[in-house]
Amino acid sequence: MSDIVATVHIAEHESLGYKLIKEDHIKCGNCNKKLLTVAKVKESPQKNYFIVKCAYCGDKSFKYLIEGKVYVGAADNLVIARCDTDYPTNQTYISNIEMEKAK
Ligand SMILES: [Zn+2]
Repeated sequence: MSDIVATVHIAEHESLGYKLIKEDHIKCGNCNKKLLTVAKVKESPQKNYFIVKCAYCGDKSFKYLIEGKVYVGAADNLVIARCDTDYPTNQTYISNIEMEKAK
């Protein structure tokens, strides 16, 4: 099962020993708008890479790396349209995520 889910519901996962350690935002490399919120909930050796396609200008974020168990959610006024994740090793997740404007 993937540890990356499309919504941030930290409270539901506190029973699993997850708590919010760090929250960060992934921005577009071109227009600098916030695209994705990343919440780190547990320390682990897992490396998560994200490349996010911008819903505003069609460009992409820089390759973003965060270690640990994380949840991701769309930034304000956006939804996640697609998410393809590759697992080149069992501790490395590379996610290509495409954002869309919320209707
Ligand atoms: Zn952009």
